[in-house]
Amino acid sequence: MRSNWILTILILVGLVLGTIVGQGLFDADYSLAQPESEHAHAMWLGIFSFLGNTIFMGLLKMLIIPLVATSVIIGVTSVGDFRKLGKIGGWTLFYYMATMAIAVTIGLVLVTNIKPGTRISEQQRVEAEAGYAADEQRVEALTAKQQEGLMGAMKGLVEQIIPRNIVAAAAAGRPLPVIFFSIFFAVVVTMIGPKKEPLIRVFDAVFEVLMKMVHAVIWLAPLGVFALLAWTVARIGLSVFVSAIGSYMFTVLLGIAIHGLIVLPLIMFLFAKPDASGSRSPFKFMRQMRQAIMTAIGTDSSSATLPVTIECATEEAGISKQSAGFVIPLGSTINMDGTALYEAVAVVFLAQVYGMELGLTTLVLIAITATLAAVGAAGIPSAGLVTMVIVLDAVNANILESNPGATAIPVSAIGLIIGVDRILDMFRTAANVWGDAVGARIIDRFCTDER
Ligand code: ASP
Repeated sequence: MRSNWILTILILVGLVLGTIVGQGLFDADYSLAQPESEHAHAMWLGIFSFLGNTIFMGLLKMLIIPLVATSVIIGVTSVGDFRKLGKIGGWTLFYYMATMAIAVTIGLVLVTNIKPGTRISEQQRVEAEAGYAADEQRVEALTAKQQEGLMGAMKGLVEQIIPRNIVAAAAAGRPLPVIFFSIFFAVVVTMIGPKKEPLIRVFDAVFEVLMKMVHAVIWLAPLGVFALLAWTVARIGLSVFVSAIGSYMFTVLLGIAIHGLIVLPLIMFLFAKPDASGSRSPFKFMRQMRQAIMTAIGTDSSSATLPVTIECATEEAGISKQSAGFVIPLGSTINMDGTALYEAVAVVFLAQVYGMELGLTTLVLIAITATLAAVGAAGIPSAGLVTMVIVLDAVNANILESNPGATAIPVSAIGLIIGVDRILDMFRTAANVWGDAVGARIIDRFCTDER
């Protein structure tokens, strides 16, 4: 218990120090403006990226697929009967969709009232568009997503869910097909009579070993989040918070804070059953999930955080393996409250930059497409930025339909928000992970751990 608090403090120190060192590096580069300083800047970025992305995130990613498979298999086999499984699945999906819809609504209310887009000048807009056009890699990724459209993205999701080759899907590190296969596999395991017992015991043991591996990797989190924070802040700088784009960032962050600190705790308080000590306090639960939330802030990835989320949920918060094994892996790729909120705010913000007034029907359309686009976003850094073009396209089509002469929002407008995306991604990923955890805590009311 004590070592856990020491680790938490170390991670916190990593987050703060990473921010300070990153900002120092960002400032140094600009104040010296000499070739050597540029070289040193690039060298430090390389070191931080190696420590954070290659080592820390690499170790976490290494554990995702085996952990997803075993936790889902254990979760489903321990539920056992179909009716109960259907009930858990149904409520889980309902929870995901309902909380994402609430998050989107909060985002829309805030952005239409704060109107951050009106603070952007014509010149800033033109510069951002030009900057975007020069970023070839990004243009290619976003154009591909744009061509895919909403239907394409949904089709892609279904195609992913039912993999033609489960080994290839696992090798590519895709959690969704592995989850589907594992659910199917586990359901059939429960039907094979007494032979299932040794098989289940093996999965149980493998799961325990994997959790111990996660435990070991978490000790690298302080260094990992330090390096990732330094890497991010050294490229962006904290001064963006007070620039013209700052009020857009403020809108997203305020929305995430309201959703994460008020709405989700309230939902948990109302619908979760008390824990073993009789407590239903959302803030006690947030404390138990703290390492997962901080890892999400550092990694910008719900999937990479998944091993830590499962560990905190089962070991710290005592959530049953049935609920944690089902709700958290699925949630890490489907349930994205922070991303949904962000996508809605970003699209309305861009519309405001182009002087467009959006009517109620367009806002409802944004709410629906932003929710679906968030479902379609993978749990990896910047996935939400990429799927946002789907929402942008839907809005454009809607505007042009009702007014054929109107100007659409160009995809290049995204140039305005790309620069600060990584910072917002930290917080929306934290909200995504927190949303999954609250879901597991609520769904736990339908579960018991006996087999
Ligand atoms: N990075 C987010 C996640 O992993 C997805 C996003 O880009 O919004 O949850």
